[in-house]
Amino acid sequence: MTPQATTRTTRIPQDEPTLDDLRQRVRDLTGRWQDEGRYEPRSDNWMRGFDPDFSRELAGLGLIGMTWPREVGGGGHGQLARLVVNEELLRAGAPVAAHWIGDRQIGPAVLRHGTPEFQREILPGIAEARFVFCLGMSEPDAGSDLAAVRTTATPADGGWRVNGRKIWTTGAHKATHAYLLARTERGERKHEGLTEFIVDMDTPGVSVAPIVDLAGEHHFNEVVFTDVFVPAHRVLGTVGNAWRQVTEQLSFERGGPERFLSTYPLLALALRHAGPEHKAPLGRLIARLATLRRLARNVAASVDAGAAPVVDAATLKYLGNAFENDVIAFAPASCGPDRPELTAAWGQALLASPGFTIRGGAADVLLSIIAKQETRP
Ligand SMILES: Cc1cc2nc3c(=O)[nH]c(=O)nc-3n(C[C@H](O)[C@H](O)[C@H](O)COP(=O)(O)OP(=O)(O)OC[C@H]3O[C@@H](n4cnc5c(N)ncnc54)[C@H](O)[C@@H]3O)c2cc1C
Repeated sequence: MTPQATTRTTRIPQDEPTLDDLRQRVRDLTGRWQDEGRYEPRSDNWMRGFDPDFSRELAGLGLIGMTWPREVGGGGHGQLARLVVNEELLRAGAPVAAHWIGDRQIGPAVLRHGTPEFQREILPGIAEARFVFCLGMSEPDAGSDLAAVRTTATPADGGWRVNGRKIWTTGAHKATHAYLLARTERGERKHEGLTEFIVDMDTPGVSVAPIVDLAGEHHFNEVVFTDVFVPAHRVLGTVGNAWRQVTEQLSFERGGPERFLSTYPLLALALRHAGPEHKAPLGRLIARLATLRRLARNVAASVDAGAAPVVDAATLKYLGNAFENDVIAFAPASCGPDRPELTAAWGQALLASPGFTIRGGAADVLLSIIAKQETRP
């Protein structure tokens, strides 16, 4: 495997910085990058803003893999510290896509289910922003119903042969590694017989084709696996146990601040331009934002306590996506012909928005998860 980013970073020693110190580190970095004209804050940049140099600088500050043990390249911090850093990055609309998936969910999944050797192989590469991950979960007929995946992995000498097709794979064209959910056994129950793998994207037989979105941007892809060999040691966790593992992973995917801060750069601009007549609707939005931040803190505390807060994460995503869309609905009230910057930011957020309530679990499916939990005896 040839890593995409080959520069190794030097991690700054972590002498228990305060949360304010961490916030300030991020503000210094994002402020400097903006002053140097290296990025423009924009909505949804955690998915659209791909800049390995930015991720490497962040890694050099010890701000990727923050909660992982130091022995595997992590920072040994709690989830609250990570939440604070990610809030600041999102607030600044920073280009964090190169490390976001690895830091958010692949690292934690490898920590929970990977052997010590597997952890040593994967985690430092994420924490140093050398490895870029994409998520090979969805397929043409398996999105909300993830257990319907048809991609197969069959035993081969020394490993597995993978065949199948993944779709909507964000960042696959720039990724060094893919997380892959595949069927290793066909049984009576479709939730059984699934297995998770980590696949090098430059393995022969992996092909990536672009899918352009409504805004004309290329972030998703279709990824086809044709007789792709995956060595045995790249099984994540237990063969056949992926359903439980991936459900846990989805709580990391859904329970973070990016589920309510995708449109924060637009909200910040709207605040700057708002007049007295906007006070009440803006006040309502800010109060909701405070509620969502509290929910995110609760999710972070649960993860610190070793739980996988599936329902709280679904709740956060459901309410957070509604908030993001309501920011877009509000912005035209303070847009006007004399505010081209705000109008442009509104247009950009609007074109990004159709995916908010679909990616990471469609809104109706999240409601269903929450309702089922509430009605359990
Ligand atoms: C911006 C974006 C980025 C993405 N990135 C990735 C990625 O990197 N990797 C990846 O694997 N996937 C990715 N996806 C795919 C995403 O996870 C799926 O689109 C999503 O899970 C929905 O699946 P689907 O598109 O097959 O829709 P379907 O499952 O067909 O659902 C369509 C609609 O039917 C309804 N519905 C379906 N099932 C139920 C149910 N059980 N109860 C109630 N209503 C239901 C919902 O309203 C839903 O919106 C991405 C999607 C988007 C929009």
